[in-house]
Order: sequence, then C-alpha cells, then structure tokens
Amino acid sequence: KSRIPLFGIEIDALRMSEAVSQLNTWLHNDRPQATRFVVTPNVDHTVLLQTSGPLRDAYKDADLVLADGWPVVLASRLLGKSLPERVTGSDLIPALFAASENTPPLKAFLLGAAPGVAQRAAINIHQKYPNVEVLSTYSPPLGFENDPAENNNILARIAEVQPDLLVIGLGAPKQEAWIHKYRDQVAAKVAICAGATIDFLAG
Ligand code: UDP
Repeated sequence: KSRIPLFGIEIDALRMSEAVSQLNTWLHNDRPQATRFVVTPNVDHTVLLQTSGPLRDAYKDADLVLADGWPVVLASRLLGKSLPERVTGSDLIPALFAASENTPPLKAFLLGAAPGVAQRAAINIHQKYPNVEVLSTYSPPLGFENDPAENNNILARIAEVQPDLLVIGLGAPKQEAWIHKYRDQVAAKVAICAGATIDFLAG
C-alpha cells in the first residue's frame, strides 16, 4: 500500500472504505502481539510534531496514518502526491461501527473523555449500531500519564474485558504517546487515537 511523505511523516493513501476494510481484517483476526494503532494527522498535529518527540515516534510506528485534516489532503495535492480523500477519526469510527452490520459483533472499549461522557456515548452507540458492544468505558484522572499505578489500572481494565477495538480519546499528543508506549501490554487488537470522537458520539 502506498504511503505519502508529507510534513516529515508518512501518510497512507487510503480512502475511508479501504481504511474500514483494513481495520475489519485486523479486528476479526487473531490478537497481534502488539496492538495495532491508527493515528489521524491534522494541522494541529503537524505543528505538535515539530516539538513532540513522543508524537513523532508514535507516528513512525503507527499501523495506519490517515489524513484527518483537509489542509493535509490539499498539501498532498499541491505537492503532486495526492491523497485520495480525507479520512477523519470522527468519521472513521462511525463508519467502522456501521460496517459492523456485516461482521461478527465488534467489541469495543472507550478510553478517555470527561467522566460520564463515554457512558453516554456507549448508550448512543448501542442504539444506533446494535452489532457494536461497548464492553467498558474509563475516564482516567488528570495526570494519569505520569502515574505508573494508574497506567496499570488502565491496562488491567482493558485486559479484563479483552476488546477488539480500543477507542482512545485523550487528546493529542497524549493518546498517541500512550498507545505507542503501552501497545505491548494493551489487550486490544486495534486502537484508534480518536481525539474528541467520544464527545461527538455522546451527542
Ligand atoms: N482528554 C482526556 N484526558 C486528558 C486530556 C484529554 O480524557 O488528560 C479528552 C477530552 O476530554 C476530550 C478528548 O480528550 O474528550 C480530546 O481532547 P482535545 O479536543 O483536546 O483533543 P484533540 O481532538 O485536539 O486531539
């Protein structure tokens, strides 16, 4: 599959439908040794990439890098290496949920967003996408990323339910740095760094 170098990172030249189908292959096959993870660069990220080493490292190892921002797609066209379309995280997750009608049940864990928000999102998801099971949700406390006990707590909560999909809404660059650091210990097949998507799903 082709990857396009832009802003010092490599972006996958995939349409939304192709991204969904790649994710479904990963989600409905055996558990990989390290969780596969998806990042969705927008213009804010291209700025953060200049200053955040952990974000750059996460981007290098990401299994899918999808162009969230329209300016990212535009830049690719101006440089003559065109990306086929925008694939935003906030569109990708509903598209993946909608596609679950044609797959075995999709088991998900929602990590992040303010307390209570992910539970509301879970109710909406269950109503709209009956084949998606939100097994659990968790909103880590402020400063969790510097607290080893809290990181173990998060990993244990995920391990307890063994989801296929981990939706991570902790904001950039925290969410990317977190999954990159812990992917060997995360008991999910695929993680999507989803920014504020859990908030959107909560309505
Ligand atoms: N968030 C969180 N814990 C944190 C920081 C952020 O749960 O320590 C959540 C926040 O509540 C929101 C989401 O991360 O639901 C995305 O935040 P933001 O819009 O800042 O991120 P971006 O979309 O810019 O990546």
